Amino acid sequence: MSNDMNRESPKDARRRVLIVGGVAGGASCAARLRRLDESVEIVVFDRGPFVSFANCGLPYYVGNVIADERNLLVASSQMFRERFNVEVRTETEVIAVDRAAQTITVHDLRAGATRQEHYDVLVLSPGAAPIRPSLPGVDLPGVFAVRSIPDSRRIRAWITERNAKTAVVVGGGFIGLEMLENLIHRGLVVTLLEQLPQVMPSLDPELAAPVMQHLESNGVRLHLDDGLARIEEQGDGALLVVSESGAQLPADLVILGMGVRPETGLARQAGLQIGPRGGIVVDAQMRTSDPHIWAVGDVVESHDVLTGQETVLPLAGPANRQGRVAAESIAGRVTHFRGVQATAVVGILKLIVAATGANEKGLRRAGITNFEKVYLHPGHHAGYYPGAQPIHLKLLFSVPDGRILGAQAVGMEGVEKRIDVIATAIQFNGTVHDLAEAELCYAPQFGAAKDPVNLAGMIAENVLNGDMPLAHWEQIGASEALLFDVREPDEFAKGHAPMAVNLPLSQMRQRYGELPKDRTIWITCGVGQRAYYATRFLAQHGYRPRTLSGGHTTYTALEKAISYRRSALSQ
Ligand code: FAD
Repeated sequence: MSNDMNRESPKDARRRVLIVGGVAGGASCAARLRRLDESVEIVVFDRGPFVSFANCGLPYYVGNVIADERNLLVASSQMFRERFNVEVRTETEVIAVDRAAQTITVHDLRAGATRQEHYDVLVLSPGAAPIRPSLPGVDLPGVFAVRSIPDSRRIRAWITERNAKTAVVVGGGFIGLEMLENLIHRGLVVTLLEQLPQVMPSLDPELAAPVMQHLESNGVRLHLDDGLARIEEQGDGALLVVSESGAQLPADLVILGMGVRPETGLARQAGLQIGPRGGIVVDAQMRTSDPHIWAVGDVVESHDVLTGQETVLPLAGPANRQGRVAAESIAGRVTHFRGVQATAVVGILKLIVAATGANEKGLRRAGITNFEKVYLHPGHHAGYYPGAQPIHLKLLFSVPDGRILGAQAVGMEGVEKRIDVIATAIQFNGTVHDLAEAELCYAPQFGAAKDPVNLAGMIAENVLNGDMPLAHWEQIGASEALLFDVREPDEFAKGHAPMAVNLPLSQMRQRYGELPKDRTIWITCGVGQRAYYATRFLAQHGYRPRTLSGGHTTYTALEKAISYRRSALSQ
């Protein structure tokens, strides 16, 4: 670092807006602000060589799905200058903020020189850094985290130059799984080390189970419920990942996908308020505790509209919207950021996993107990049209008002479309009745006259209005209820819950007299539909039936989740 500190004074009396970080939040803010205000001076600083690049495309660049690096560049410095009159200073790191003097200290990484720049308004959008735990070996050559284009270049080069054949991905969240898919795409054999007993922590375990099965059926070695202890270099340049339980996982490269942490260094140094989740505290206009400083993107804490709690949510959509809100606020417009609801999707080896709102674990953690859940497994389009693929869908809603709290879905087709519809309903404070009534696209190859979204709403309505009293598989051990499986005998023979008795729906009208009226009767079937029919029939004949939502398909997913947990524990 050079010692000659040049103080760059404002060139003219124009209001000076400096933006730290020129990717999702920072670039959105700069472009929106220029559209609103031609009079301000806008300068964007980024320590990397690019601005406005597609971080979300990086795993696919590693996998060579995106072969040309230039396709990752959404906008260039030149474009910012020519189109928006925004100055971009790349390879320039902002290293300090002096709030009293309203200056930042910037370090030109090419020239090695340091100078100060005055601001009237400062916007922080420095993002979040991959977590690199301080464990032995995490800085060895061949151990990578992925955040930038240069990171991806290095991984690509390592795979090619070393002719890498095996990899360990540490962490089974979004980025870990996307990297895993792309390494497989490059022909590597991948082991996933995950400290939880499930992948995708944003899902409840029974929704994560089909994802784990899918990974295994694609040759991924799952090593769950076990953390990273250290990484060792082998004599031949290969690596050995050692887990907390002592498992030894050899690899030609290691990807760290252990989550991200808000880059709050500057904010802390400047004395801005930091929240309990480790992000910068901002108001609904994205203004920090300093009235001259705004912050957006992965670095801030956002209000979770479902749980009412503050959260850090490193996703591109919120970062872009927050950048826009900050620009509007800086330009003096009335604006506000409504909060986040964690709508996200990931594709894993052709499987689609999507979610919006709270999951069951999150609701319980937030102390919210007045909710109910339903499971369904409909086809992604009409069953009579060839190629229908099941969608495993879980809907959470509050009782008794039916407000939608969250949804998770897994399947090969049409998953994100359903979650997007439910996400929009949540945004408008929708209820399950709104889902039941939603008028959605239908032609045989796209959906069904009763779309999965409608079905989810209708099933939840049946629960709320008492037409379908529910039971849940988790309660089964603690219940004295009788369990009847109303599938046909051949289906029952292929697999059923151990305590279930077979009484096919097709024989129910003749045989219901065999059932006791003084006992609660739990009813299951394949996916819950026939169990519901049997429930309605029995309820109207004086019995006390309850439907096991999601039927045998949900039962097997729960069992699978438990067996993953058990086998992880026994490793
Ligand atoms: P960033 O986009 O990270 O930008 C921050 C910039 O600030 C960086 O370029 C950094 O170099 C720069 N910077 C930091 N500190 C300084 C400083 N002191 N001085 C100068 N410059 C600085 N989200 C999704 O919604 N969907 C996806 O599919 C998805 N996939 C992803 C895949 C990967 C591999 C990664 C890494 C992220 C992915 N994300 C995805 C997350 C998404 O990219 C982020 O949420 C979003 O980019 C956050 O925007 P931001 O502006 O807060 O930070």
